[in-house]
Amino acid sequence: MAAKILLVEDSDSQLKFLKDGLLSNGFEVETATNGAEAYKKLFEFVPDLVLSDIMMPAIDGYQLCRLVKSKEETKRIPVILLTILDKKIDSFWGKKAGAQLFLSKSIDMDELVSNINATLRRYPVSDEYKEKIASQATPDNSAQSQLNTILNDLLLKSVFANEFRNLSDFLNYERILVEKLFSLLSSFVEYTVAGVYFASPDDYSENILYIDTLGRNLSKNLLSDIQYDFFRKLADIKTINDTKFEVVRILLGKEIDYTFTDMKSKIIIPLVFDKKLIGGICFYTRSDADYASFRYFDIMISELLAIFKMKYQYTEKEFMSVLDGLTGLYNRRQFELGLEQEYNRTKRHPADFSLAMLDIDFFKKVNDTYGHQYGDYVLKTVSDLMKASFRKTDLLFRYGGEELVMIMPETNIEGALIPVQRLRRSVEEYAFEYNGVKAKVTVSIGLTMNFQDFKTSAEMLKSADEALYTAKESGRNRVIVYDGNNAKDSI
Ligand code: GH3
Ligand code: MG
Ligand code: MG
Repeated sequence: MAAKILLVEDSDSQLKFLKDGLLSNGFEVETATNGAEAYKKLFEFVPDLVLSDIMMPAIDGYQLCRLVKSKEETKRIPVILLTILDKKIDSFWGKKAGAQLFLSKSIDMDELVSNINATLRRYPVSDEYKEKIASQATPDNSAQSQLNTILNDLLLKSVFANEFRNLSDFLNYERILVEKLFSLLSSFVEYTVAGVYFASPDDYSENILYIDTLGRNLSKNLLSDIQYDFFRKLADIKTINDTKFEVVRILLGKEIDYTFTDMKSKIIIPLVFDKKLIGGICFYTRSDADYASFRYFDIMISELLAIFKMKYQYTEKEFMSVLDGLTGLYNRRQFELGLEQEYNRTKRHPADFSLAMLDIDFFKKVNDTYGHQYGDYVLKTVSDLMKASFRKTDLLFRYGGEELVMIMPETNIEGALIPVQRLRRSVEEYAFEYNGVKAKVTVSIGLTMNFQDFKTSAEMLKSADEALYTAKESGRNRVIVYDGNNAKDSI
């Protein structure tokens, strides 16, 4: 059976020349002289391939192609675009419109036929598919209005993308980024409360839900209910207690007493990239709103994802230079800065803070017995146990080789002993196992705080080191508190 070609060409002489050429090569040919007519004939004639001129009045070849490719019912019909223009940009635009092939009109008939045959072989249209097209009602004069819808959609998508991309100038100014993001979101999404959360690659950062209330002064109760509701939906957040919210745009007027149950509709969208949660957004509203059916939801999500991804990667890179690669703890430079800062701060505004220094017992032996890789595994695991033992406000560092340090702000010795002992015990009880090899590991810890007698942070650090030394001397696997000239065993 002869393949059916729908030939679209506005010039009579060209049309005749092409039609004759195709007929003499055994194709069945139907013609149209403009895009609208061609679109109608698509349903009546049901071709195996559309061969269309580009430059035509009203609906041109690109637009016809977009129209064919935008519909599930017709998109499998291959389209070849023909033009006298032989520019890269035309070919680019033709491909973007979904055309299978883009040919210059200057090619001879044999070449055209062989291209048509190759395209027919590559994109065969089944009889079943063709029957479906034939069973569709022939479209009336709506080609132009359908086309307008498609073009409006495209325009909106590109404007959307552009608006979101402008936000990327503020990736390292989180507050400004959030304000701009809310100002954008509020321009096209209905909400009473919207929230935005950026996950951080760094374990220590607080999980903050930035909230926008469109300037209204909503009750703390409502906002903390929303915070709770939001973070409960994000699987990666370990404890909701470690989260907080912050209202960003200015609050106006008296407090409005909306409650959580007043929020009739909501949507919570986790943003995931590379299997990692990189953030999330949420909308809550007092009216009935079917967020998921919002026409541009998909575009919004994909643009948001792009922004969140960029921010996540930006932060990740920034943290790389302050974090230790093996343990994920802050590195020694950060420790030195952190200790100095905390020390000076508490000199100005008197407050307790504690410092603990940990050293793995007989670590050389671990390396010698099981190998360096095993040693690395132990170090990494001890660091993870350490992260699990301390509060988010405590700062954890890798001081050197297998020495880890902890700064605990607003904490005296008595308070510090709790997590420090918990850590010592959790290491002692942990069943270390790597590549099927089991081991037991213990740690020794020296603990001190910012006692009055210290004149510098260096003296304080030295006292932690002394206490650690005493812990080693007195049998290891213990915590020793620095106590003036006599460090004191606290096991
Ligand atoms: P103790 O602390 O109980 O006195 O004995 P120890 O065996 O731990 O003695 P020491 O602190 O002197 O030895 C530390 C060893 O830790 C030396 C070094 O080979 C090893 N080490 C340091 N950093 C790393 C690391 O990143 N990976 C591995 N696998 N080993 C490390
Ligand atoms: Mg050591
Ligand atoms: Mg050691």
